[in-house]
Amino acid sequence: MSKKANTFQTPIGTRDLLPEESARWEAVIEVFSTVASRAGFSLVDTPIFEDVGVFTRIGEGTDVVGKEMYEFLDRGERPMALRPEGTAAVCRAFAQHRPLVPWKVYYRGPYFRYEAPQAGRFRQFHQFGIESIGSDDPDIDVEVIALGWKVLGAVGINKIELLVNSMGDQETRRNYQQALSGFLKNHVADLDEEDRKKVESHPLRVLDSKRPSTQSVTKEAPQINDFLSADAETHLERVKDGLKALEIPFSIEPRLVRGLDYYTHTTFEFQSLALDSAQNTVCGGGRYNGLIEELGGPATPGIGFGMGIERLLLACDAEESFPAPPPGVQVWVVDVTDGSSARDLTHTLRDHGVTADRSFDQRSMRSQMRSANRSEAEIALIIGEQEVDEDTVAIRMLRDEEKGQIVVPRSSAVAEVQRLLGLES
Ligand code: ATP
Ligand code: MG
Repeated sequence: MSKKANTFQTPIGTRDLLPEESARWEAVIEVFSTVASRAGFSLVDTPIFEDVGVFTRIGEGTDVVGKEMYEFLDRGERPMALRPEGTAAVCRAFAQHRPLVPWKVYYRGPYFRYEAPQAGRFRQFHQFGIESIGSDDPDIDVEVIALGWKVLGAVGINKIELLVNSMGDQETRRNYQQALSGFLKNHVADLDEEDRKKVESHPLRVLDSKRPSTQSVTKEAPQINDFLSADAETHLERVKDGLKALEIPFSIEPRLVRGLDYYTHTTFEFQSLALDSAQNTVCGGGRYNGLIEELGGPATPGIGFGMGIERLLLACDAEESFPAPPPGVQVWVVDVTDGSSARDLTHTLRDHGVTADRSFDQRSMRSQMRSANRSEAEIALIIGEQEVDEDTVAIRMLRDEEKGQIVVPRSSAVAEVQRLLGLES
């Protein structure tokens, strides 16, 4: 029996980023980094796996930790997790390195959750996010939300809704939790079975449920805005004033409690109105005034957001915004002799800051010109026997037929290309 070769596919819920998409991917990350660094945020990059304890602190009863986390023992029997989110890892880094505050950082990279894959929901997905650590000033909440808004605007997303809420402080949370759990206990039979289990242990989490029967109960539940302490109220008012001053439209959504345990005061989400409602949250964030202490650091307030890159691009698709940038090749070198001229000229052009490519395998003129056209290069440099004999190069403008072809001495070819492309020599 002949042995069949193994063929492999990407694991369920993951995908390859191929050249057709990758330029747009890089471009959206560039937009984000530019917006973040312009506001004084610097890049941090934390490991893709961490001690599992870093993440269990964000909420034992959450789906993210309880059901979706990729956990494993390494070969030294240490319990590890592939990071499911960014904030806990950044706060772990803060607690470990104790930088000066305010510590304003941004991050981007892959995150992992064992979820049921569907459009806009993957097992390996990508986020960029920011964290601003060290101050409780509500104006920082405004700055963080405004940066999310700016990123969305910069990629041309208009059909977007910003929902804002306050989780209040410890006192607010305690009082509200009590009232909510009392209410839920009276309606437990109407809740989705999955959510019933949370009524005792994590009543707030029930509000985060996407299951319709639960949602019809929670619609009527007591709302956190009626329980805010005076401090929490003042904080929220300042945030609202700030958003109004910056002309960022928002609505207050008292049921927006978000999935994780660590939130205090401001929470917010940007939802795309152009995406299916089960996966329409493009960006979510909030304040986490207890998290760093939980992770062994000094009591330090912070706030941040995470934005799903795949979802952001899906929202762009739905709004037909942020098209892929044009391909980068500027010059195609066509050599119909033995390829030496193409070898040398591409090298020299690249040294002079010109993006240049060529064909290999001594293809025919026709085939090389076809590649040149497909590359969307503006210029073809053509070398045949005659050009080699005369030490010249033919330059053809591929996108402007009227300009035709000129022949220049080979020694001035690079300068001529730079001139035609409008580059500084
Ligand atoms: P959702 O309610 O859609 O499950 P979430 O509240 O679990 O989102 P966060 O933990 O706040 O999401 O993550 C921030 C952002 O990351 C989300 O708003 C979303 O854009 C994106 N995101 C979260 N999970 C996934 C996933 N499995 N696949 C793709 N993007 C995701
Ligand atoms: Mg989720």
